[in-house]
Amino acid sequence: MESVINFLVIGAGPAGMSAAIEIAKAGEKVTLLEDALTIGGPVYRRNLKISKKDHNPGREKIRANQLFEELAKYSQYIQVIESATVLGIWNNKEVLYTVDGRSEIVYPKQIIIANGAFERPMPFPGWTLPGVVNAGGIKTFINTMQVRPGFRAIVSGTGPMLINVANRIHETGVEVIAVLDAGNPEMYSPQFLEKNKAFAFAQSIAEDLNELHQNGIPLLLNHSIFEAQGQVEVTGILYGPVDPISWKPIKEKAIFDDADLVVLGFGYIPDNAFSILANCQQVYRDGLGWCVVRDSFMQTTVPGILAVGDCADIGGMYIAEWEGKIAGIKALENLGLIDSDLSAARMSHPLEELKNLQDYREVLISTLSVKNGIWDLMQDNTLVCRCEEVSLSALKNAVDKGAKDLQAVKLYTRLGMGPCQGRNCAPTASMYMCHQYDISPTEVGRINPRPPVRSVTLGALAGIANPQK
Ligand SMILES: Cc1cc2nc3c(=O)[nH]c(=O)nc-3n(C[C@H](O)[C@H](O)[C@H](O)COP(=O)(O)OP(=O)(O)OC[C@H]3O[C@@H](n4cnc5c(N)ncnc54)[C@H](O)[C@@H]3O)c2cc1C
Repeated sequence: MESVINFLVIGAGPAGMSAAIEIAKAGEKVTLLEDALTIGGPVYRRNLKISKKDHNPGREKIRANQLFEELAKYSQYIQVIESATVLGIWNNKEVLYTVDGRSEIVYPKQIIIANGAFERPMPFPGWTLPGVVNAGGIKTFINTMQVRPGFRAIVSGTGPMLINVANRIHETGVEVIAVLDAGNPEMYSPQFLEKNKAFAFAQSIAEDLNELHQNGIPLLLNHSIFEAQGQVEVTGILYGPVDPISWKPIKEKAIFDDADLVVLGFGYIPDNAFSILANCQQVYRDGLGWCVVRDSFMQTTVPGILAVGDCADIGGMYIAEWEGKIAGIKALENLGLIDSDLSAARMSHPLEELKNLQDYREVLISTLSVKNGIWDLMQDNTLVCRCEEVSLSALKNAVDKGAKDLQAVKLYTRLGMGPCQGRNCAPTASMYMCHQYDISPTEVGRINPRPPVRSVTLGALAGIANPQK
């Protein structure tokens, strides 16, 4: 590939695919890099085998197929590279990625970051046992690997994604004991669903609730997993009610059940590694954490770098697509390939759709925001950082010795020094420190990513194909 290109999109979920399609529609070439074996992101991943019911192929599959068809239609303009992992961005516009055991450096004039979010880890006793899986992992099990993930499951977390996942698991033949939502989301209420019935997201939630009912799976509000038990893998669970306001577990009411699968979905954290590396300004947002600052056209504070979808702001698959479209059009305008009038005309519909979904986004984010009482699930020996095996007591010990920010905690304990570079443990440690020790999120700070953001072999790095600009 040429090293200087006009457009690069990082991540081929709904946001990245939509951005690339908009650029291609103008007859311009764009490169779309996807870390996974296949494009689509966790919801639209190819080989999607959603439902056994022929009459209901699944809205995710229908929407995914529409996007795949559009990608295919414009394939002469869109270079899709799967299994291509972006490792870092330097000097604002130098992008390193690895594919097929070698590395490449490209210098795109416009970069659209669309690498999604990661699922919020929820530490509790037994959370590192095999059999405890995040909802995204379960979707991969089912959709891509077509594997039945277990026999008897509990689904725990917060928000409407839980009910969708529970139904998908049920279809594979797993017995789902219950869905435990730590909150009591407004999104499940008949009033909310009636008010928003014209929107696809509300139709989805209503369908999922109905299906859950038909499947005979109870939905227990203000409930959570407390503990996963087992010697080498999950063989039993404790779960029970939480305080409706603080989400503090009411442990004396814990219930035991047999289970071999615990599926977690405690919301998402935007993956801002690339926007941080590119020096884009970040802001702390309650309930989400550090997020990249953007204008209404998805542009970050660094010219020529745009960020869309869940990597910037959690919004679900519909919002991700609209944002991708807006960014694609803006990137074309930035290079003068379409004039501002055409850009405004093409953008007006996506902007309008996004505006209409703003209330939904706010409700979604508040639904997915965990309340501080939930940290009481952890015991002193519960691991906060699983890469470096740092327990809650080690974290407390570091803070008691004077470590008031994450960098200091990292030096005291090794928290965040493992292969995930703090992606998994820093959000928990940060929220715990703010809550328990009354420190502000800005003071606690963050653990900054460093390239390579993912593990890579020396051989792949040594084979850099285009070291010169
Ligand atoms: C289990 C589950 C169920 C969900 N159910 C729903 C639902 O019912 N309704 C709904 O609206 N939303 C749902 N969501 C949320 C939805 O998946 C996201 O909101 C949406 O996919 C965001 O789109 P995106 O394009 O921003 O990110 P993603 O879809 O996450 O795509 C990001 C892509 O970037 C790739 N990537 C990441 N890092 C790199 C890298 N370093 N180099 C190259 N590529 C990289 C990833 O592999 C991924 O394909 C669900 C999510 C999960 C996990």
